[in-house]
Amino acid sequence: MSKIALMLIKEQIHAAAREVGFSLCGVAKCRSLDVSRTRFEGWLASGCGDGLDYLSHNIDKRFDPAQLVEGAKTVIICALNYRNAITNGYSAEARCKVASYACTTDYHRTIRAMLREVFARLRHSNPTLTGRAFVDSAPLAEKTWAVEAGLGWIGRQSLLITREYGSTVLLGALVVCDEADSYDSPYEGDGCGECRRCVEACPNRAIGSERMIDPRRCISRLTIERKAVMPDNCGLHGWVFGCEECQNICPYNHSKPIATLPAIAPTFDPRTMTEVDWQAMSDDEFATRLGHTPLSRSGRERIIEAIE
Ligand code: SF4
Ligand code: SF4
Repeated sequence: MSKIALMLIKEQIHAAAREVGFSLCGVAKCRSLDVSRTRFEGWLASGCGDGLDYLSHNIDKRFDPAQLVEGAKTVIICALNYRNAITNGYSAEARCKVASYACTTDYHRTIRAMLREVFARLRHSNPTLTGRAFVDSAPLAEKTWAVEAGLGWIGRQSLLITREYGSTVLLGALVVCDEADSYDSPYEGDGCGECRRCVEACPNRAIGSERMIDPRRCISRLTIERKAVMPDNCGLHGWVFGCEECQNICPYNHSKPIATLPAIAPTFDPRTMTEVDWQAMSDDEFATRLGHTPLSRSGRERIIEAIE
């Protein structure tokens, strides 16, 4: 028996995302984003993806969700504000800085559970709805799709910037196989204008042209990826996991609301921890205290190396 496709109602999608706790939601029609794909291929050709081989795999799927999910019709992008007191909260002398998103339960878990809940709500009215949830788990260009769904623009530091929450948002996507009654308009315009504050603030000069960064020089990658090699003239500048210098300087991140969802609240505060605290921590203690956070990705040893 063939499936009877019901149409999704855009306002119901927005409402479901809001009720589950997402800060923003946008709905885009599936299509192949050829202009973005060409830019991405140019960035790869420049050598910036060296050492990140996975980026050159499945480029078709990254910019065309129908290649990723058979029968895909609609991309639902959900954004979660993660701003907390640790964001922009370090002193100039701090030597053990952890990016604020990493001071909480691993967002992959949190957002995947929330996307499943949104999907379950949509299935109430569309019981035959099929689709998949993605949180960095597949080659989907989430930031590009967020622009397509009207949430914001790609800043010069390569991150999505939203008017409501700046760039401190985490993204998740639902790619579903029913059409919506209407779609959000792609975000038009560029809030960066002549601003270059992030370019000038980046300690390793990792921000290049075309809204792309050079991950080989980016502290975020240098601290997190176990195989990353430190290039000449680069350093970690007090960061031991991630880096937020280019976000902290951005005017769109000033005076923005702190996240209220308990699931995204910090579970430890690196501002209160010294080099000695980190160095004295055993593997067991690290696993107990921080195993639920993104820090488990780099591991205790990598953090100790970063301090030294
Ligand atoms: S995260 Fe840090 S190193 Fe990477 S581009 Fe931003 S400021 Fe530069
Ligand atoms: S600091 Fe300026 S150039 Fe950089 S992302 Fe923010 S607004 Fe754009």
